[in-house]
Amino acid sequence: MPYPSRRRPVQNPFGELRIIDRIRARTSLSNAVRLGIGDDCAILKPTPGHELLVTTDFSLEDRHFRRQWHSPTSIGHRALARGLSDLAAMGAKPLAAFLSLAMPKSTARNPRWLDGFLDGLLALATTYNVPLAGGDTSQSPADQILADIVLIGSAPAGRALHRSGAHPGDLVYCTGTLGGAAAELTALSASPRKFRNVTSADNHPHLFPQPRLAVGQALLRRRLATGCIDISDGLSTDLAHLCTASNVAAELDLARLPLHPLAASLDDGAQITALLHGGEDYELLFTAAPSTKIPRSIAGVPIARIGRLLKPQKNKPQMTLLSDNDRFELQPHGWEHFS
Ligand code: ADP
Ligand code: MG
Repeated sequence: MPYPSRRRPVQNPFGELRIIDRIRARTSLSNAVRLGIGDDCAILKPTPGHELLVTTDFSLEDRHFRRQWHSPTSIGHRALARGLSDLAAMGAKPLAAFLSLAMPKSTARNPRWLDGFLDGLLALATTYNVPLAGGDTSQSPADQILADIVLIGSAPAGRALHRSGAHPGDLVYCTGTLGGAAAELTALSASPRKFRNVTSADNHPHLFPQPRLAVGQALLRRRLATGCIDISDGLSTDLAHLCTASNVAAELDLARLPLHPLAASLDDGAQITALLHGGEDYELLFTAAPSTKIPRSIAGVPIARIGRLLKPQKNKPQMTLLSDNDRFELQPHGWEHFS
């Protein structure tokens, strides 16, 4: 007997299962991911002698991105880039990504947003050979999109880079340039239309940041760094985290900070603010013993020596900025939630 059509279990074309199918169709496995999307759990196979590193990052609409400013592709790219940058900071190799995604009904009904988001996320995932191995999908309780990314990485046992590994006397280095993401965000907020058609192929530090995975892995492999952190919240804030974790003080040399070309057009004050406090550059800040020879570039990324570490002293600031033979106390003024 034919099933009464009224009661036929039709699949809702915009429902959770269709969305998951749409995601699954675009993913693949790897040596590390034995089982991906489709069962109750994914199955990963870590390399013998390695440890797993796990990081999670929220990307919340109106907190981390705005639909008026960010294309779906940029949102997907940025969501994954943040987690990859955390793995980079510890010298890890990414193994698998998991995506928990809550969308308002109106967004789920229009697959264009999801497809664009996946374009950005999966292009970056392919670049670093990290399969999307699972996640969760839900209707958002509000009118906003909420995405949470979990990344699993691996590193040889006992070798991951830490914020807490730096010593007084070590020199301070950073990768790439600083202030570009802050400068681009300023331009983006002033005229979002100009950025509508930007793609990841272009150099866009805010919209399409490049996590420094190869540098982090090289620092670990070549035993170059004593301490490392990624600059996600701004140089001043992330350096303070490293100083606190390592119990050291730091001196930064303003003239040595590598300015992103996009920030060069800002006025002097805004330039310094972008350099010291601008977030989301996703460069690495690392420290090395003064006897360690640090190359000028690692994995094709320029490395700048920007300061040095000292013993912390009572009544002395944790961080000092050297500029034109003057010294200033440097306060962490980067990004902080609930402030
Ligand atoms: P369960 O109810 O057992 O959690 P789901 O129906 O939520 O299962 O998920 C089915 C499969 O689809 C699982 O493998 C899960 O990891 C995957 N999945 C669900 N949502 C997503 C998503 N947003 N991105 C990637 N994989 C997802
Ligand atoms: Mg689920």
